[in-house]
Amino acid sequence: MRRPLVVGNWKLNGTRVGTRQLLSEILAGLKNDTQTEVSVCVPFVFVSQVAKQLADTRLFWGSQNVADREKGAFTGEISASMLKEFGCRFAIVGHSERRNLYGESSALVAERFKMAIKNDLQPILCVGETLEEREKNDTFKVIKEQLSPVLEAVGVDSFTKAVIAYEPVWAIGTGKTASTAQAQQVHTYIRKTIADFDQSIAKKLRILYGGSVTADNATALFSMADIDGGLIGGASLKAQSFLAIINSANSVK
Ligand code: PEP
Repeated sequence: MRRPLVVGNWKLNGTRVGTRQLLSEILAGLKNDTQTEVSVCVPFVFVSQVAKQLADTRLFWGSQNVADREKGAFTGEISASMLKEFGCRFAIVGHSERRNLYGESSALVAERFKMAIKNDLQPILCVGETLEEREKNDTFKVIKEQLSPVLEAVGVDSFTKAVIAYEPVWAIGTGKTASTAQAQQVHTYIRKTIADFDQSIAKKLRILYGGSVTADNATALFSMADIDGGLIGGASLKAQSFLAIINSANSVK
């Protein structure tokens, strides 16, 4: 049994007051008997504030990236050990916005993943194809190219502590969602790719879907056998929609 996971990716959004308010609303609406693990991945500057507010609650927190280095002259980076000190549980790595807007290669993403694992943070490794790649029938090839450098850098054992998020680039923030069949097909492929290294790790690995998940489409997506929850962008910025998505995960898993 894989425990469902719903993670909010706040991206470049939030204020001190707004963050406090949003988290209070989520905490107030979170059911006590929720099966689903829930986290928010917030901008770095809010991590300290969020850690204080969420300590001893059922809500976890994490970051949206993590440095590929331990420490030193790497201006602008935040290390995994710093994030750990502030109680982060998760760190997103390889989000398509990092890959495409900031030129992060799969090799760099693998180093970031490695640092997260080394410091006992759970990396959420994002993979996914662009529309052009899908239309060329290159989806599986792209996913493999994104997974392989990580598997080579850290080995399959690290995936006992990691999460993968399949996020088709064409579905992120666009209002277009992969159909349940499209998503399930890629999730199966991801699980099989890991199973080729280790079947039991693949069976336990949580694979999230991300890309315009809303309260309206979450239940259908989460009903698919290999979709273990979601990485939620826009809909995680409002308590009502985020809570409805969490409830969908609870109801079908
Ligand atoms: C994301 O940023 O990971 C994401 C899936 O965004 P959205 O839900 O807004 O498409």
